Amino acid sequence: MNIRVGFGYDVHRLEAGRAFWLGGVRLEHTHGPKGHSDADVLIHAICDALLGAANLRDIGYHFPDHDPQYKGIDSKLLLQEVMALIRKEGYELGNIDATVCLEVPKVNPYIPEMKQCLAQVIQTEEKNISIKATTSEKMGFVGRKEGIATHAVVLIYKVNPI
Ligand SMILES: [Zn+2]
Repeated sequence: MNIRVGFGYDVHRLEAGRAFWLGGVRLEHTHGPKGHSDADVLIHAICDALLGAANLRDIGYHFPDHDPQYKGIDSKLLLQEVMALIRKEGYELGNIDATVCLEVPKVNPYIPEMKQCLAQVIQTEEKNISIKATTSEKMGFVGRKEGIATHAVVLIYKVNPI
C-alpha cells in the first residue's frame, strides 16, 4: 500500500500547578496534565497515530515511561524522533486531523500557534495539520475537569512507491 492511515488516542489526568503543554504550546491555566514527560496529550496522540500508520507499535514501546531519560522531556523531541522513524520507512506525512477534548481552558485561541509549532517540528505545511477542540458537555472525566483526552488520525504515503 502506498498510503496508510493511523489512529492515536491519549489521556492525561489534570493536576493543580502542572505546566499545561498542548500541541507544543504552553496554555495559561491553574491545572495541567500529569505525566512522565511534559504530558503533551495532543503530541502523544499524533505520535501514536503516526506509529500506527507505519505499523511501528506505539509511543510507550519507543519511549518507555519508566525510562529516566524521558522524565519531563519536551514531547516535541519525541515527535521529531517519530517522524524520523516514519521517514526511515520511506513514508512522508499526508495530513493530520486531531480533536482535543477538554472542558477548560478554551483551546481554540491557541490552535493557530499549535499548528505553526507542529508544522515546524514535523517539517510540513500548516495546511496538513488540523486541530479541533470540543468539550465533553460536563459529562465523564473530561466534563468533570479531571482529565484531557485527544484523538488523532493521520495519513502517510510512500515517497518512492515501487
Ligand atoms: Zn501521553
